[in-house]
Amino acid sequence: MNKEKCIIIGSGPAGLTAAIYAARADLAPIVFEGTSPGGQLMGTSEVENFPGFPKGIMGPQLMNDMRSQATRFGAKTLYQNVDRVDFSDAKNLKIYAGHETFTAETVIIATGASARWLELGKGEERFYGKGYSACATCDGAFFREKIVAVVGGGDSACEEAMFLTKFASKVYLLHRRDTLRASKPMVKRVMENEKIEVIWNTSVTNLEGENLLSGVELTDTQTKATSKLALNGLFMAIGHTPNTNFLDGQLETSHGYLVVTDNTKTKIPSVFVAGDVADYRYQQAITAAGAGCMAALDAENYLAEQL
Ligand code: NAP
Repeated sequence: MNKEKCIIIGSGPAGLTAAIYAARADLAPIVFEGTSPGGQLMGTSEVENFPGFPKGIMGPQLMNDMRSQATRFGAKTLYQNVDRVDFSDAKNLKIYAGHETFTAETVIIATGASARWLELGKGEERFYGKGYSACATCDGAFFREKIVAVVGGGDSACEEAMFLTKFASKVYLLHRRDTLRASKPMVKRVMENEKIEVIWNTSVTNLEGENLLSGVELTDTQTKATSKLALNGLFMAIGHTPNTNFLDGQLETSHGYLVVTDNTKTKIPSVFVAGDVADYRYQQAITAAGAGCMAALDAENYLAEQL
């Protein structure tokens, strides 16, 4: 059976940047793109903060360009999900996808983290990119002088609410309990910001609007009373779920995120990690791309040391 030099799992900015570097280093990487290739940027509209695009670039275009850049240098992409892996032999890493088994000398895991959305089952997906977002950093600037709300009570929700005050005329913070779990300094900043109004003990129970989102239905978590709130943007900040199920516990995690040492390394010397699957903190396309670069260089160095 063929042994690949490098298999990359994931096709967001981390995976595809790793693919560009690995391909240019003659590692002939195979990229498992999954069945929803391109990662989270496929669901965003204009990306204004990725360097090199002074006029911005559409998220899907950026990802397609990254893929073209990787394949130009010989990366092979497969639109398949990895079902499971077996890393028990560090020199023969096994990757199982559908009915196929692949063996690799190195693996780079770049499967990202999925933002958690409301799961109302009422077709709220129709508002993706039309007022319903899970990334204030990405989409906040589209809401100048508009009314927006952030759902959540953690550091991300507070940070996103603070960030949105730069653009929006009013920011509601919608939290299901009566205390925020965010750190004290963060809570203080939120409470002192005149543009932010916290609505306690509340859940969003419906999204409303024709084409664009124009309001939400709120339900008081204690009294169950419902009310309407008119707004233009709703930002989810109820956490992310790192995509690690296929690893079945073979790598160490902390709060669900893969644990790395020395930037991209794991306890298995031939397995490297890049991007949001190991990063709860920055979660930006550019930081993921940087980590993808580092993982590919680390994989290349590891292979050189084996000669
Ligand atoms: P988090 O701390 O897990 O907070 C998630 C928030 O969403 C909680 O307030 C939770 O409510 C709420 N929530 C969860 N599921 C919900 C649902 N289905 N409906 C409504 N609300 C829901 O997540 P995070 O804020 O993304 O932070 C993740 C980690 O990153 C944390 O360790 C955080 O400290 C860290 N972080 C740090 C910084 C920083 O230091 N600058 C910035 C961002 C994140 P409950 O409170 O009721 O559980």
